[in-house]
Amino acid sequence: MVPQPDILLAHADPAVRAALARTLGAAGHRVAEASSGDECLRLTAELRPAVALLAHTLPDLDGPAVCRALRAGQGTRHILCALIADAPLSGHDAAAQADLADAWLVRPFGDPELLALVRLLLRTSAAEQHRLLPAGAGLRLLRASAAEQIGSAGSEPIEVFYQNIVQTAMDGFWIVRASDARFLTVNDAYCHMSGYSRDELLAMCISDIEAIENPQDTAVRISRLRCQGHDCFETRHRRKDGTLFDVEVSVRVHAIERGEALIVVFARDITASKQAQETLRRSEARYRSLLSAIPDRVFRHDAEGRFTDYHAPRDTTLIMPPEMFLGKHYHEVVPPEISEPFAAALARARRSGQVERFEYDLPASDGTSHSFETRVVASEDQDVVTIVRNITDRRQAETAQEHLGKELARKNRELEQIVYVASHDLRSPLVNVQGFSRELQASLEELRHAIAALDIPAEQRAQIAFLTENDIPESLSYILTGVSKMDALLKGLLRLSRLGRAALCIAPIDVGQIIAETLIAFDFQIKQAGVRVELGALPRCKGDPLQVGQVFANLISNALKYLVPGRLGMITITGERADGMAVYCVADNGLGIAAEHQDKIFELYYRLDPARSEGEGLGLTIVRTIVDRHGGWVRIASTPGVGSQFFVALPETL
Ligand code: ADP
Repeated sequence: MVPQPDILLAHADPAVRAALARTLGAAGHRVAEASSGDECLRLTAELRPAVALLAHTLPDLDGPAVCRALRAGQGTRHILCALIADAPLSGHDAAAQADLADAWLVRPFGDPELLALVRLLLRTSAAEQHRLLPAGAGLRLLRASAAEQIGSAGSEPIEVFYQNIVQTAMDGFWIVRASDARFLTVNDAYCHMSGYSRDELLAMCISDIEAIENPQDTAVRISRLRCQGHDCFETRHRRKDGTLFDVEVSVRVHAIERGEALIVVFARDITASKQAQETLRRSEARYRSLLSAIPDRVFRHDAEGRFTDYHAPRDTTLIMPPEMFLGKHYHEVVPPEISEPFAAALARARRSGQVERFEYDLPASDGTSHSFETRVVASEDQDVVTIVRNITDRRQAETAQEHLGKELARKNRELEQIVYVASHDLRSPLVNVQGFSRELQASLEELRHAIAALDIPAEQRAQIAFLTENDIPESLSYILTGVSKMDALLKGLLRLSRLGRAALCIAPIDVGQIIAETLIAFDFQIKQAGVRVELGALPRCKGDPLQVGQVFANLISNALKYLVPGRLGMITITGERADGMAVYCVADNGLGIAAEHQDKIFELYYRLDPARSEGEGLGLTIVRTIVDRHGGWVRIASTPGVGSQFFVALPETL
């Protein structure tokens, strides 16, 4: 294959063409030649040179016409055109044609000017191609310079082009002397970037602005550059104010003039993009570390359902190695027991825009079964994130809890049964004991009469009388007291057990009315003891009316029973709504209960001072049982010698 030429040279005069081609060839350029405008167009389209160097006057099509045609061609648009004019154009022509070509050479010119122009064009083309210059920026500058040059009759040196380009470029530009790395030329863009003036920079060398490499490193880099001709790397420069900025540097050994190598440098400030990269890296790192703290497996899929990324916590395993699923569609790699519910959840998630979930079980390698919960989220750009959590432990705990709950309920039923059977069945032998004891009492009476009729010595009579009048009646009375006590206890137990088993008939209750009725039942005691009762406005509640009535009857009965003798009794009953409950308070100014007894009084048969009053120690146990069954609570606040407050909370009703 013929190597792509740098330059297509079009000139009608073979001698002139040959001379120009020789000069260019000697400088290392690859040159293709054309003798007419038509040939020039054909060859440029075929060979795509970087630069077309055209005589202004050509057979078929003249130079400006070729320029226009190249500009108009899709594939030839980027070829830079330089026109060689034999004489400066007149003012009118200059204005009309200036923009036609990217550069102009006006005779007479020497080889150095020709070569400088060509080098400049090639460099501009390369810079644009490698995006070192914004596309078209070089062209615009060259054209502007070309216009100036035509107008000024070719008297301006070629450096004008060059100066204009480097001064106007958006990237920093310098030329440095290879031998001591001193700045020879610096453009405005670099002055702006570094904060130095041109004069300051021209008195400096690379090490004054280089923030990473030391002068030895720079020297090594320069000598390497002299061998390889060009380099491109990133580094960091120091501004005049000491701050640093990141630069991407493109370097080329420019020319060796009088034994001196010059280094041409384009430096682009990449601080912003570096910072953006760094921010991205940090946020990625944060995201990763956040992810690593998540005990779940996380997968990402693209819109088509292919796995694009995953995260697995360190101590977990995946059902297959990542290389087997990354890039694949989930239908291809995931078993149907997961992929089918997944497809359904994904469709739901896309419709609802919400997190959708499903659960499944998978056998583990040890033969056990593991349970998983999967959550699926579809983002707006159709990306899908799936979070998979192992819920085996949770499931086991739930099952154990359920089991425990059932077991507890069973035990409770069993206990209730025992209490019921014991209290019920024990009462019948007790009735026997009671019955036969009474029988014994009757027999004793008969015995007494029989003995009275007997004629026996007085000493013997006295002995027998001691048994029939003292010992036997006393024993019988102990037996009967014990039996009736036991009977009372068993009756209490039976009541409690029945209470626990009775079905609740829940209805809205007018507690005020229930209490008013209860107070009527206690009217006699209240009047006899001269107790003042105050009844506030009471909220309604929800419950079994009979059982709730029992609660207040027990509390009011206690309030009356445990008043301080000799002190005017006061009972106040109030109520209010709080947190969805109706909370009632039965308060008295009675004996009060010391703190250490306050919990115990709700226990079965617990009484503070059994000798002082009648009772079974069952009333508050019943209160608590009923309140618990209603989903409420009972609490006490009491001060010995001052009085007690019993608070009862029951579900409120509107
Ligand atoms: P009983 O009244 O049959 O003894 P309770 O279970 O109703 O059984 O009460 C348990 C004990 O709590 C009572 O024996 C009494 O010592 C104490 N008590 C209950 N209510 C009050 C009250 N309003 N003031 C002082 N003590 C009380």
